[in-house]
Amino acid sequence: MINAMKIREDFPILRRKVNKRQLAYLDNAATTQKPKQVIDKITDYYMNYNANIHRGIHKLSEEATEAYEGSRGKTAKFVNAQSREIVFTKNTTESLNILAYWAFRTLKKGDEVVVSIMEHHSNIVPWQMLIEKGVKLNIAGIRKDGSLDIKNLQSLVTKKTKIVSIAHSSNVLGTINPVKEIGRIAHDAGAICVIDGAQSVPHMPVDMKTLDCDFLAFSSHKMLGPTGIGVLYGKEDMLKSVTPFLRGGDMIKEVFQQTASWNDIPWKFEAGTPNIADVIGFGAAVDYLNKIGMKEVRKHEEELTKYAIKKMSPISGVTIHGLAAERGGAVSFSIDGVHPHDIATILDGEGIAIRSGHMCAQPLMAHLNVPALARASFYVYNMKEEIDRLIVGIEKVKKIFKTGR
Ligand code: PMP
Repeated sequence: MINAMKIREDFPILRRKVNKRQLAYLDNAATTQKPKQVIDKITDYYMNYNANIHRGIHKLSEEATEAYEGSRGKTAKFVNAQSREIVFTKNTTESLNILAYWAFRTLKKGDEVVVSIMEHHSNIVPWQMLIEKGVKLNIAGIRKDGSLDIKNLQSLVTKKTKIVSIAHSSNVLGTINPVKEIGRIAHDAGAICVIDGAQSVPHMPVDMKTLDCDFLAFSSHKMLGPTGIGVLYGKEDMLKSVTPFLRGGDMIKEVFQQTASWNDIPWKFEAGTPNIADVIGFGAAVDYLNKIGMKEVRKHEEELTKYAIKKMSPISGVTIHGLAAERGGAVSFSIDGVHPHDIATILDGEGIAIRSGHMCAQPLMAHLNVPALARASFYVYNMKEEIDRLIVGIEKVKKIFKTGR
């Protein structure tokens, strides 16, 4: 079992007071806090072996290269993949854009792409680019409880479908989607399956051999690592066929005046000097999560989420959006007659950090017929006491706005 009290000792920021209250950080779906192990690892690189990678023959460059490529190995193991199947990008958004630009080059008029209505903008907007080419973007629906309407998805995936790109876990509804089944549906139609793992890889064991999808995108900053690092996993053969999006140094094999040939995967996707320090820091985040164990992470969040839903559900005037049986630790809610920004502002006064707004999911907001939502989301350092404070805060909001009974 996770000892959140003990884990908190590694997170200097969690000792902070906000508005004279102990910080309760419940905005983990947006970004997570960093343990000192990650911060120290980054400092250590800059203090002791800062150098450019791959090209140098000197000691510092060798050490930096070893640490950078070491992080790749750790990342690969974390999702049960090969090192060469792991590309470092800037974030989930960039990872998905690499695929969308490739699709822009290769898909033709009449081809189709399927996403779902619960997608984050980063898994909708890049694919919208293909509409310019006459590609049709199909949007699978959801059921009342916030689960994916898999029958609807199945009906949209036809021989015309080239790509099915779906969030593993929704940043708004919390829903965990059956990506293995979605992968099978895509493959049966001859389509490629892409998973947006931004909200799954940080929170549960994700095994790409078992899930058998072609691509997976996720972000370091949502799993205790630094900002500025994302991952694009791709099956070896798939990555080989993807055209690189950024071109320049390090991603080439040979360059002539008018042409160039590409480096091997994954380096053909990492043009220019990468974010070396943060890749190394990300490796420390992966170590940290491995030490806790991803099954334990999942268990802890399930417990917190169940507790939060149990405490919030009976409060009159409060609606939780997303009650699928399989769900992660993002709990979006609204309070009758109160704008979510007001909820977040009042809670901030209590030292409780939650998110409010459209959460980069405007098509979903329109579908739910809400302008915005409030969201609490949990991670390894959160405790039930913080949820109790959230509940007290919600009651305070209601009192101020005199909503419900
Ligand atoms: N997909 C989902 C489901 C997300 O929650 C997020 C971040 N909120 C993203 C994609 C985009 O991640 P990033 O901002 O790190 O690119």
